[in-house]
Amino acid sequence: MAPRTVAVTGTASGIGAATMARLEAEGHRVIGVDRHAADVEADLSTPDGRSRAVDGVLDACGGTLDGFIPCAGVSGTSGPLIVRVNYYGTMAVLEGLRGALEAGTDASVVLVSSNSTTMTPGLSPDDARLFLDADEEDVVEAYADRGWLAYPAGKLALAYWVRANAADWIGRGVRVNAVAPGITRTAMTEAVAADPVAKAGLDAIGIPIDRWAEPEELAAAIAFMQSPDASYVVGQVLFVDGGIDAQLQPFAHPTPLPGGS
Ligand code: NAD
Repeated sequence: MAPRTVAVTGTASGIGAATMARLEAEGHRVIGVDRHAADVEADLSTPDGRSRAVDGVLDACGGTLDGFIPCAGVSGTSGPLIVRVNYYGTMAVLEGLRGALEAGTDASVVLVSSNSTTMTPGLSPDDARLFLDADEEDVVEAYADRGWLAYPAGKLALAYWVRANAADWIGRGVRVNAVAPGITRTAMTEAVAADPVAKAGLDAIGIPIDRWAEPEELAAAIAFMQSPDASYVVGQVLFVDGGIDAQLQPFAHPTPLPGGS
């Protein structure tokens, strides 16, 4: 495979670090973005930090980028921070890099959604549509008191964004897709697992494959989705979750068009 230039956020830890290592091992050039220990150091929760990230990547790649994989994200109960980093931080950098991606070769974007999108009781499609339809400050306010729900709602919004924008972006030569990881052994889940109540909640989730994912297993799926090997895959959300989604909702998708008998 010809070497590619790919920007990855969240490269200081977990899935982003594993993705960077995987792509570099395949001979690609990775421009890493994170708050620390990265080629481009920027805080994606703020407009200034997002601008710094976009400018830094554009400087490093010379205005031509073959791939973008925004892995940076936060979990927990800080609704506003989750909204700012996971959805608007991702979107601002993605929009800022769009021209460079359109100038790239076999260009592709892989967003990082989550299988929490299909396994969170009480989460509604409207909770996610809000992110696509309203501005950041309104969504921050809407999720100020909703704690954890901001996380699956923002991740569902990323999945909807992929579905809603894939046709437009491929018209300009850029494939967009997402992966939806299940529970993966990273700093994010170690922090949750350290809390006995949260750990009991995680342990109660039946995982057909009977273990958590390793970050390298997510990196493998992401590397495939961003590569020209996936050249005809457009607008998809690939669940990499050990079978949880299939087990919970075997007949939810693919969904036929309405009107069938
Ligand atoms: P992680 O905590 O190991 O890594 C996240 C990285 O994002 C860190 O390096 C962190 O510094 C960076 N980051 C956080 N806030 C930032 C900010 N404001 N600006 C710049 N960088 C920032 O977590 P992970 O598990 O590797 O998560 C990677 C992605 O995968 C996240 O989007 C997460 O929501 C998603 N995800 C993880 C799991 C899981 O079980 N671990 C499951 C589903 C989805």
